[in-house]
Amino acid sequence: MKTIDELIQDGIEGKRVFVRADLNVPLDGITITDDGRIRAVAPTIAKLAEAGAKVVVASHLGRPKGEPDPKFSLAPVAARLGEILGKNVSFATDTVGDSAKATVAALANGEVALLENLRFNAGETSKDDAERKAFAEQLAALADLYVGDGFGAVHRKHASVYDLPALLPHAAGDLIATEVGVLKKLTEDVKRPYVVVLGGAKVSDKLAVIDNLLEKADRILVGGGMAYTFLKAQGHEVGISLLQEDQIPTVLEYLDRAQKRGVEFVLPLDVLVSADFPDLKGKTPATFETVDADKIPADKEGLDIGPKTRELYASKLADAGTVFWNGPMGVFEHPDYANGTKAVAQGLLDSPGFTVVGGGDSAAAVRILGFDENAFGHISTGGGASLEYLEGKTLPGLAALED
Ligand code: ADP
Ligand code: MG
Repeated sequence: MKTIDELIQDGIEGKRVFVRADLNVPLDGITITDDGRIRAVAPTIAKLAEAGAKVVVASHLGRPKGEPDPKFSLAPVAARLGEILGKNVSFATDTVGDSAKATVAALANGEVALLENLRFNAGETSKDDAERKAFAEQLAALADLYVGDGFGAVHRKHASVYDLPALLPHAAGDLIATEVGVLKKLTEDVKRPYVVVLGGAKVSDKLAVIDNLLEKADRILVGGGMAYTFLKAQGHEVGISLLQEDQIPTVLEYLDRAQKRGVEFVLPLDVLVSADFPDLKGKTPATFETVDADKIPADKEGLDIGPKTRELYASKLADAGTVFWNGPMGVFEHPDYANGTKAVAQGLLDSPGFTVVGGGDSAAAVRILGFDENAFGHISTGGGASLEYLEGKTLPGLAALED
């Protein structure tokens, strides 16, 4: 993969450089609640601008349905990016239309523009190769060079990630280079014990990685929404907790393989349960009780790991040589269900090992819960992307950046 330093050496002054970033930040209305992804890619944009390029930044935000939807506008991100860069970022109100063309044409050397949400065009995420390629060609007309730096999206075979780099001379941005370097380290020479902590809500996305980690990790700690599929597989009542019933045979196979391979598989001992999902907006106090993991009432749902589990997971992290953590242990957005996630974050900080946090929400949780992000070995901007990398899959957006 070519680096942006090599691209700059070739001379980029006055060239239009398309930067595919991942600016998919959590929003509360138009307020950005965590700007980690913007800060992570800003150095790449700044470097290109300083070298005299006309920088055209593009990203997706959320999951609009292939047409404009003001809820998912990148306008607030343009403002924040401008603050971080300390310079004006002009904003195009479309991606390949008149506004984009005029905004890019108006850029002077060293200036930066952000296009509107790429997913306002159906071509971006289309499964139809021709439709994607047609959109990529429209994007290509806006630029002379391509820099891929949206690590959080490299596992997507999308027009701006996969098809566009084939149409322009391309390089990998510094964020992607860093992310890949760290993940490589996790697949090659890990210091042991290698402890993996998995949680979050996207159960099926996360189960697949276990298949590969069973060959590499020494310990796997499970929390968050995916824990309940494991508890159910072991024959326990999980009430109305998150559950992927169809994954139970897979989960049983994992537990069996873990035992055969001597991988320690750790499930919650206790959980916080409630009849109601908490109020994440007003954050009114939640009503919950703590129960053993095999005694979840049929009419309740598990929303965080309990105190015995917090202590257990902290002890399982205490001697780790390497930790990879993806997915919050509970609904951390509500303070009453944030303690499990806090305990794991603290466990990473207290461990002597190299610690990696992956996942949009996990990374945001670390910062929102008040931890110093610099105290961790690495905070990845990609959840799905880092998991798929660890699964050993070829990531379309990385393959496309190879020469
Ligand atoms: P990441 O973005 O770090 O990969 P996910 O997107 O998979 O993580 O999951 C994050 C979400 O999981 C959070 O919004 C959190 O509220 C939710 N979550 C965690 N535990 C539970 C649970 N027990 N029940 C429901 N949702 C949960
Ligand atoms: Mg997430």
